[in-house]
Amino acid sequence: MSCSHPLCERIGGACSLAIVRSHTCRPNVNERDVAAEVLDEVRSLLSRIDEREAAVRLAQIVRREALDDRNLVAFARGEELDFADQLAALCTKR
Ligand SMILES: [Zn+2]
Repeated sequence: MSCSHPLCERIGGACSLAIVRSHTCRPNVNERDVAAEVLDEVRSLLSRIDEREAAVRLAQIVRREALDDRNLVAFARGEELDFADQLAALCTKR
């Protein structure tokens, strides 16, 4: 039943991070870097992640970036961003 993402457990209901990829081939033309304004929003959401609204919004962002082939957790870790560990803890299955 549970997808075991801590972030989804906060939000409740079905998995908020699962993405369904289409199986059509498409050229990978997306930016690999996450936009600075996205990172700023993630940082501010993480600072008030106890609010359900912030958790829902964060899940939306993580999912949207994943659909664009950007892994926010991996990016944050690669860039050694201050919130990388907190984000990873929320988005990694237990
Ligand atoms: Zn989940």
